[in-house]
Amino acid sequence: MAKETEKKTVAHTYTKVEGKTQSKEELLQQTRKNAMPYRITGVIFWILAITCEVFAILFFRVALEWDFLYEEPGHTIAWIVALALDLIFLVVGSLLWKKGNHLDPAKRSQEIKFWCQNNLGVIVAAIAFVPFIIFALTDKNATKKSKTLAAIAAAVALIIGVLFGIDWNPHSQEEMLENAGINTVYWTASGTVYHTHDDCGHLKNTKDLLTGSSATAIENGKTRLCKTCEKKDADLLAAGEQAVTEATPVDDGEKDVGGDLTVEIPDDTTGG
Ligand SMILES: [Zn+2]
Repeated sequence: MAKETEKKTVAHTYTKVEGKTQSKEELLQQTRKNAMPYRITGVIFWILAITCEVFAILFFRVALEWDFLYEEPGHTIAWIVALALDLIFLVVGSLLWKKGNHLDPAKRSQEIKFWCQNNLGVIVAAIAFVPFIIFALTDKNATKKSKTLAAIAAAVALIIGVLFGIDWNPHSQEEMLENAGINTVYWTASGTVYHTHDDCGHLKNTKDLLTGSSATAIENGKTRLCKTCEKKDADLLAAGEQAVTEATPVDDGEKDVGGDLTVEIPDDTTGG
């Protein structure tokens, strides 16, 4: 119980990582390379999703001469399973696609491309379920009950697919490059961001820290600066500026302002 009140921080060990890229162009080439496997597998999963949708349509409309489609519950189970697999593949594809975009963000200045690239999963979700809804509702042989069930199931799947397709927290290339010139940052092997402070709260339980320039962190897939560290830097900068303003001798010639500048900017003095 007493341990909870103890302020405990794990001692870090640091591993220096050397950068591979020398210029902005090389860095962008590297981020594109990092993102490629995620984008390709994402698209493969989307293709699998749409293939499952085709089967769901064929099963629902009894377009295949397969015995289990001619009777219940085989018929209903068949199209529901196909539709469920459609949703699973779609969601996996969207998560992979978004991961690719986080590793290699689009330019925010190109608004349409930025939106389409980040939310391509929404468009694919529509492709993965709307045709099924149309084919199910226009099936002359289906009962009203099974049409209703099909429409509701596909609509729910569509909503889930859209929610996963949207990138709620898109990264931008501009933001990534803006912070690419920091000399010393810290990151963890499994994390997605880098930190400018090794005493950041998000790192307090992490023993092994990797360190290098922010460009090196980006090369290694940590394309964003930690929000907590970003705020801390902004606060330190503001405090520093304020202290400098206060310490600047105002021309009244009376007050001694020496030694007032006490703001310390933490450096990596704990490294070792
Ligand atoms: Zn941080």
